[in-house]
Amino acid sequence: MASILMLPPELLAFLLSFLRGIDLSRVSLVCKRFKEAVDADWIWQQRCKREYGVESLNGWKSQSYRTFYTKILYHYGFIFGVWQADIEYYGGLVHVSVEDGLIVANQLVPACESNVQKPLQKKKLFSITLDDEDRVEIMCLKGHEGPHECIIQSTGVKRNSFRATCCEPHKHRHTAGEGQEFESWLEEELDNVNDDLHEHIRDILQTKFEITRPYETKCLYKKMVLPLTIQDVPIQPGLFKGTYAANGVEIVNVSYHGDKMRVTKVTGDPHIPACEITIEADLNSQMVLTKHQQETRAQLEDLDVDDVIGGDENPELQPFIIPAGVSDRGLYYFEESKNIEQCRARYAGTGQLAAHGFQNSSSSPGHLIIFDEELFGFLWLELRTLSVFSRVLYRFD
Ligand SMILES: [Zn+2]
Repeated sequence: MASILMLPPELLAFLLSFLRGIDLSRVSLVCKRFKEAVDADWIWQQRCKREYGVESLNGWKSQSYRTFYTKILYHYGFIFGVWQADIEYYGGLVHVSVEDGLIVANQLVPACESNVQKPLQKKKLFSITLDDEDRVEIMCLKGHEGPHECIIQSTGVKRNSFRATCCEPHKHRHTAGEGQEFESWLEEELDNVNDDLHEHIRDILQTKFEITRPYETKCLYKKMVLPLTIQDVPIQPGLFKGTYAANGVEIVNVSYHGDKMRVTKVTGDPHIPACEITIEADLNSQMVLTKHQQETRAQLEDLDVDDVIGGDENPELQPFIIPAGVSDRGLYYFEESKNIEQCRARYAGTGQLAAHGFQNSSSSPGHLIIFDEELFGFLWLELRTLSVFSRVLYRFD
């Protein structure tokens, strides 16, 4: 009787390479021939590539794919990808990927100043690697005293959330006390910008420091699924960074729900926290306006919507101007690189406002303005401001 065991070793190894890593370990217990085939390291190399996209061990201390798979990927491979930090009000965007012999979790933060054109900055949170003796080494990379141990635990069903817990929280405390700790946090937060801080901004940052501080040593992360490309939408979904007055630049996620385009916060503030909707626009309310109709905010508010809803006759581009008395929160950064005197589309929408603590939330009317695939704005009619959102061009693969 023909048996799989009669196959030449290379062919047996090839067939086994299609099994998942966990099944491979079980198969190796069946008999000696299987065990020998499973010991072929290239089988494990295939696994690392197919299941986790890791193609080589360049830079890693271990050169055994089997060790790498069983000790690192099997336990921590789920952590690759994009996560949202579960931090009260503020949230956070985290990307985990392989960087030169380490699995590294980077928090992606917008520049503190309101320049929405600047790319996100990476701040290292923790790393996972194998030491010289093939032991797993997980390090907290925050604090003032260099890397120290931390623990990563999967917490959710289907590993859709995990918790990172620092083992030496005292290494995050500044020896000179909390005041000094705030100063050095501020320095990092502001990326060493030494401009004199307006008292109001300093208060906002002090609140952020106090609320986010405990999360530095213990934080839950929830899996984020980034949206795929879709047809016939005014702008492709995905992550953008946008201007929120005194709260600086925040990260948002654009998605579509029936006839609505929705902008949800990924990072937030005590007024509109992370995960809450900040802007929503009705895709049936597309408007085409002349320059004259946009000259003042009062004119925009008095528009007879039936007259300006374009229907099928929407031109590819239409004129755009910032109405008199409306403050521009960042569009001017794009003056030289883009034509911002025209826009691709304009929709009626609402923005969400709330008091501190997400109290008494209400919707406020506005216009969603799409400039191009990378840039949109929201004109808050009551607030007389134009928030500007620029696509996050960071690569998440
Ligand atoms: Zn730590």
